[in-house]
Amino acid sequence: MTSTGAKVIDGKAIAADIRENVRLGVEARVAAGKTRPGLATVLVGEDPASEVYVRMKRKACAKAGIEAEPFHHRLPADATQEEVEGLVADLNANPNVHGILVQLPLPKHLDEEAVLNAISLDKDVDGFHPINIGRLAQKGRDPVFVPCTPYGCMVLLERAGATFEGANAVVLGRSNIVGMPAALLLVERNATVTICHSRTKNLADKIREADILIAAVGRAEMVKGDWIKPGAYVIDVGINRVDDPTRKRGYRLVGDVAYEEALENAAAITPVPGGVGPMTIAMLLQNTLRAAEIADEA
Ligand code: NDP
Repeated sequence: MTSTGAKVIDGKAIAADIRENVRLGVEARVAAGKTRPGLATVLVGEDPASEVYVRMKRKACAKAGIEAEPFHHRLPADATQEEVEGLVADLNANPNVHGILVQLPLPKHLDEEAVLNAISLDKDVDGFHPINIGRLAQKGRDPVFVPCTPYGCMVLLERAGATFEGANAVVLGRSNIVGMPAALLLVERNATVTICHSRTKNLADKIREADILIAAVGRAEMVKGDWIKPGAYVIDVGINRVDDPTRKRGYRLVGDVAYEEALENAAAITPVPGGVGPMTIAMLLQNTLRAAEIADEA
């Protein structure tokens, strides 16, 4: 099936543009004699997906001129709360570290909220510190950093030309890392926001009202094309594997939205892969550059 006019929002190209701007910003700082931005990454345990994510983040830092390799820390899966918080305290005190990223999820025995709480607000480049999230939820208060994936969703909507003011926005999913902060960011931009989740009734009808839809559920193609309001802006955060014997690896990735069907109605939509995915790392780099600028002012 071919597109009937929906604009495909090219997250890969937009992320590349942001990453290049960060690289230039880093270069300009260093040329002006300021410190090179540094990102510390903390990986606890051996979750293979987390290892891949952290490696990708470090590689992206290297390309942007951000120092990450010297500040990469691995702790064993049985690390104690004191050890993790002690490491965070050391990184807080290190003037060459501007951003601290503790890769989630942490092993079950650790208190995730306490670890996030231990990160200095000015180094919280993932934006998950309870105070940063709390500020996001309060009128007239600005978080120091916004979580990277929802931030990326907003940038994609902006670049696609969505109007936020007065728009009906639906966020499908209410997780701490995507759905809830995305909803708060939309409210901040004066959209009228409906947050849907697993107990929502008449989901299709709610989504049919959406001028802006951010889907972050993790269920392959659950949002059908005829749920999409004509002219809607659709951001599909979901990354789901579906079996595909025609592919060498036996599966392909799809989003939470039935993409081909949605192309019929949407004004603009992100593909999966190549939509939101690349934006998360781009926004992390941007947050890290900002963290270095904040440190200059301190
Ligand atoms: P979570 O599992 O934490 O949250 C899923 C949300 O979807 C929950 O709020 C849940 O509701 C809701 N939900 C589940 N089933 C249904 C249903 N049948 N109808 C309506 N709502 C439902 O997921 P995440 O937010 O962490 O991630 C969501 C997706 O985004 C995943 O596919 C993930 O891989 C992807 N992702 C992509 C990123 C990127 O591109 N960089 C980054 C992060 C995530 P309830 O709260 O009631 O349980």
